[in-house]
Amino acid sequence: MHNVPVARPDFPAKSDLPASRRPSGLRRDLLRDAALAGLIVLLAIALIVILRFGALADTHTQVQVQRADDISAVASELQIQALELARWQSALAFEFVQSRGPLNADAESLHAFNRARGRYAELLARLATLQPPGSADSQVAALREQLDRFDALHGGLLGRLARPEAGASMEALSALLVAEQQTINALMSVSGQAAASARESALKLNLAQESRDVALRRLLMGLTGLIIGIAVMLIFLLRRSLVRQQELMRRLEELARTDALTQLPNRRAFEERLTLEIRRAQRSGGPLCLAIIDLDHFKQFNDTHGHPQGDALLKDAGHAWSLHLRPSDLLARFGGEEFVVLLPDCALQHAEHMLLRLQQATPQGQTFSAGVALWRQGDDPVRMLERADRALYSAKHAGRARIINEFGASALAQAAATLQDLGARSQMAGASRSHAP
Ligand code: GH3
Ligand code: MG
Ligand code: MG
Repeated sequence: MHNVPVARPDFPAKSDLPASRRPSGLRRDLLRDAALAGLIVLLAIALIVILRFGALADTHTQVQVQRADDISAVASELQIQALELARWQSALAFEFVQSRGPLNADAESLHAFNRARGRYAELLARLATLQPPGSADSQVAALREQLDRFDALHGGLLGRLARPEAGASMEALSALLVAEQQTINALMSVSGQAAASARESALKLNLAQESRDVALRRLLMGLTGLIIGIAVMLIFLLRRSLVRQQELMRRLEELARTDALTQLPNRRAFEERLTLEIRRAQRSGGPLCLAIIDLDHFKQFNDTHGHPQGDALLKDAGHAWSLHLRPSDLLARFGGEEFVVLLPDCALQHAEHMLLRLQQATPQGQTFSAGVALWRQGDDPVRMLERADRALYSAKHAGRARIINEFGASALAQAAATLQDLGARSQMAGASRSHAP
């Protein structure tokens, strides 16, 4: 490239960026986002564990309540069977008194009495299996004791009723019947107590479970609400951070394509666009011009006015030139005091016209030399740039302050006067600078 000086870095210095936009800030952001995402996962796990624990605790108390309900049901049935025993015992006594003779072994009341006795024993065994070990064993034992006492008395009485001894007095048998009645009464009373206490403990357990349920539900709801609230907040923070990072990435991409001094697109952006426009020209066959602009005697300008003034000139020139371009044209800073202009759908002649307007718009009476290349079939970016650069070289050698196309022709005749005038101004400026102390 013609005398391309080392370009100043396009990327802003570290200190030009706000703290959160610096690389270390970005790292911190990423770490914070990872921590936020981790926290959200942890909260989700905590929520699952809490809900699972709640379900387990619920199952455990439900088993307890179910057992208490079963015990209460069995105890109530025991009480009913004790009543049945009493009923059929009365029927037996009545039959015996009526017949005044041996008890009929097929009597219906005797069968019913035995059935009630058998069912009572069955229920008692079931109650014993339902009772949790060591809890209300004493009740089962009391019931069994009463049942044994009844059995002992009843066995003897039945024998005597079936085969009354000769001469046995009715009074003695009646007394035995009364004694049995009393034993059954005691059985009824113990069964009633057992049923009542079983019902009471079932009720207590049900109530306790209900209040525990309410408390647990409240706790779970509170915790769930809290966790969901925190998770929503974390998700919001994470989202905000991701949006910020996207914005930062967009800004970084923009910075990577922008020249920091002039705010024009930089060489990278230009090369991308040139590739694109060449492809477009290949498709459409439309004209495409490329010009390299190089400020004349810029070193002298710097030496005379100082580097900051040189910077200001580069900036002002970029701004002034861009006012004369179409939206589809691209002006970029190529490096140092070199610029490039890409003119899609623009014939060579029009490109030269436009460059003359840029020449006139250059601030502080400065001039530039420009080389223009016209796209031709099979061109690639490198070849096009080489031809424009060669034309620029010719423009410099021909005395600067002029526009020369790749075919070696100077700019339009009608502009010759302007160019001569500008050339004269440039030479005068150069001469006065070279004589400057
Ligand atoms: P010519 O007419 O042959 O192009 O001469 P020139 O002095 O313009 O070219 P030369 O290549 O000799 O010098 C280019 C100068 O541009 C030298 C360098 O200090 C200056 N320059 C490059 N980049 C910057 C910049 O960003 N700011 C300023 N102020 N000067 C720059
Ligand atoms: Mg140069
Ligand atoms: Mg120069």
